[in-house]
Amino acid sequence: MTVNEMKDYAAKTLAYFIKSMPDVPFTESDIIFDFAPPPRMATRYKALCEQYRPREIIIKEHEEQLANGTSGQAVIGESKSAVLVCTKQKYFKANLRYVILHELTHIYCAKAEIDDKHFIDIYGSGKPYNGDEALCDGYYIWSEFIADYYADKYSNIGQFTFESVRDEISQCLYKDITAGIKDNRRDFEWACLSLLTVFDAESIINRLNELDIIPGNSTYAQDARRLFNECVRLLYKQIQIEKPWKINEKFILELGEIYLAFETVNTLLSCEQMGGAEQVMKILMNKK
Ligand SMILES: [Zn+2]
Repeated sequence: MTVNEMKDYAAKTLAYFIKSMPDVPFTESDIIFDFAPPPRMATRYKALCEQYRPREIIIKEHEEQLANGTSGQAVIGESKSAVLVCTKQKYFKANLRYVILHELTHIYCAKAEIDDKHFIDIYGSGKPYNGDEALCDGYYIWSEFIADYYADKYSNIGQFTFESVRDEISQCLYKDITAGIKDNRRDFEWACLSLLTVFDAESIINRLNELDIIPGNSTYAQDARRLFNECVRLLYKQIQIEKPWKINEKFILELGEIYLAFETVNTLLSCEQMGGAEQVMKILMNKK
């Protein structure tokens, strides 16, 4: 697609989003689309922030992410907001639609999730946050999950059965402790999303305990399965309510606490699978 075709399609997707979601807190003229190739993503993002979100503090890691594969980025302003789309990818319409719907859902949720306030302004958006780690991680996982959920729902890309996504989910949850420190939140969120957007989600929820998505019989494996299932059930309950985007601190905190417990157990499980702490140390030393 050329940039002009992308612009045109972005505008159509925005009109579709406004028609599909209830009480959209913005109009078509409130959203500005911008397009940039990877090397120009960070510069464009900074310029858009200056214009629409002057308080935003842009950290180095975020700039690097923007230059290395971020497909879309929302800039959520008080009145007007922007969606920056990376032009690197060879987009099919459905992919572009997904990216735009995802970013529009971020804007929608930030404006609608809490009455009179932007949750994102209080708790950050998964960025280094000086406050509560559980709140920060909980909000990150929630905001990406709900953005992917509506993007998936309205773009009709993911129409799968559980069996067809089982391996992908396991892969997302598999942690390689020897790979170094890695942010696993997006993988975790994607695992929850993949499970909850299958055709047969309802029946899968009813037999979560029987699914060996995380293999193994050790206590760590059992605990990791239990915590993942707890998280999936919590998200499932939330998407069943009339306005799933309405959240409160208790929900976000609960989600973040379960995720952090899962991460701890999953690290221990990974260590166990690699043959114990001593073995992991040996692998890491050899890598140096
Ligand atoms: Zn996102």
